[in-house]
Amino acid sequence: MPSLDLFSLSGRRALITGASRGIGLTLARGLSEAGAEVILNGRHRSALEAAQGDLPQARIAAFDVTDQAAVIEGIDAIEREMGPIDILINNAGIQRRAPLEDFARADWDALIETNVSAVFFTAQAAARHMIRRGAGKIINICSVQSELARPNIAPYTATKGAVRNLTRGMATDWAKHGLQVNGLAPGYFATEMNAALVADAEFTGWLQRRTPAARWGQVEELVGAAVFLASDASSFVNGHMLMVDGGISISL
Ligand code: NDP
Repeated sequence: MPSLDLFSLSGRRALITGASRGIGLTLARGLSEAGAEVILNGRHRSALEAAQGDLPQARIAAFDVTDQAAVIEGIDAIEREMGPIDILINNAGIQRRAPLEDFARADWDALIETNVSAVFFTAQAAARHMIRRGAGKIINICSVQSELARPNIAPYTATKGAVRNLTRGMATDWAKHGLQVNGLAPGYFATEMNAALVADAEFTGWLQRRTPAARWGQVEELVGAAVFLASDASSFVNGHMLMVDGGISISL
């Protein structure tokens, strides 16, 4: 196969959770440009329809990934009505910041539900179909934060560490069924999630000094890694976490 064809996603169908904006929507656009039929997930149909304005060929599946029954129903409906899910990107996520001594129980629970439990619910529901077919690619969006210790963000970093280890476990359990499960770990990207940090000149100064690439990442810079992990180009890559972080995770 010519080497560039290895990256083609033509004839594949991809479900991207948390794709109403930010990284999820950008990855959906990238996978679509690589040939995939993409399905955008988020909690609110109206937000997904607005996102579709940007990506008219995309389809929509609105459900809350923290609701296991809704996830199973949503994924079964996609399989039945749109066709097999070949690629799942578990991207939906939230962030909460506060000193640990003040960290609210409700925020802790929300982080665990959205960033960890939902990854399990969605991967398990999709994997049951993929296992029947003997093929499938799952990409879990991890974070550079699982590799760093920064103030006021420990519960988020704990959830992303859990996703890293879940990725390894899923890869281990499902490889024999023909599935590949990998992680993609963004560094710092200027999305809505990081709006307060983007507005903080002191933080941006720290980021520029600390990151070898000396800047924020652009969300489009995540697309190549996602297409690689979703495509035949990564056919022997399993349980890996690919960092796309301008080098911050290896810098002192
Ligand atoms: P945004 O806040 O911009 O987008 C988050 C997306 O998740 C939205 O589409 C939101 O849609 C969706 N979402 C949230 N909760 C749920 C839910 N319960 N069910 C379904 N969808 C949900 O975040 P980013 O694009 O910045 O982040 C995307 C992922 O990347 C997250 O997992 C994040 O942790 C990770 N990440 C981000 C980094 C960054 O620098 N931005 C760095 C490292 C990792 P809606 O609200 O419409 O439901």
